Amino acid sequence: MPACPECGAPEALCQSRFDEFLVLEFTDPGYGAVHHLTVATYMLQHSSKLTKDGWLHERALLRAFIIENKPPSFIRRQNKDKVDSGKRDFKIKSKTGQPIIDKTSWTKTILDVRAESAATYCADVTAWAASALEESEKIEV
Ligand SMILES: [Zn+2]
Repeated sequence: MPACPECGAPEALCQSRFDEFLVLEFTDPGYGAVHHLTVATYMLQHSSKLTKDGWLHERALLRAFIIENKPPSFIRRQNKDKVDSGKRDFKIKSKTGQPIIDKTSWTKTILDVRAESAATYCADVTAWAASALEESEKIEV
């Protein structure tokens, strides 16, 4: 199988790794602590799943988590209010499946995340997220 055309992971192993990690995060709170980072970073690197506004939204989320140190609960609440009140005026999920960005290789992908222990996992997800955010900040969409 060829490399993933979006994040560059060999044999496109990113999708199955993402699915495994989500199970891990939902079953073990030690791993679940970084769930917000896993999802936002994976989405950022797979822009065909998103609309342009959705991609910008994920990048802004990641910036809030990584740079501004906002807790995920705070952001969830903010988002929920927006969705509940119908204030969010854009769609997140792509209908076309076309990538929003043309970046196809990243310094770190989800395959760089090790899952031997919760501590290693959280540190690796955070490093992956910070690296992806830094690279995505250079992209104009
Ligand atoms: Zn990928």
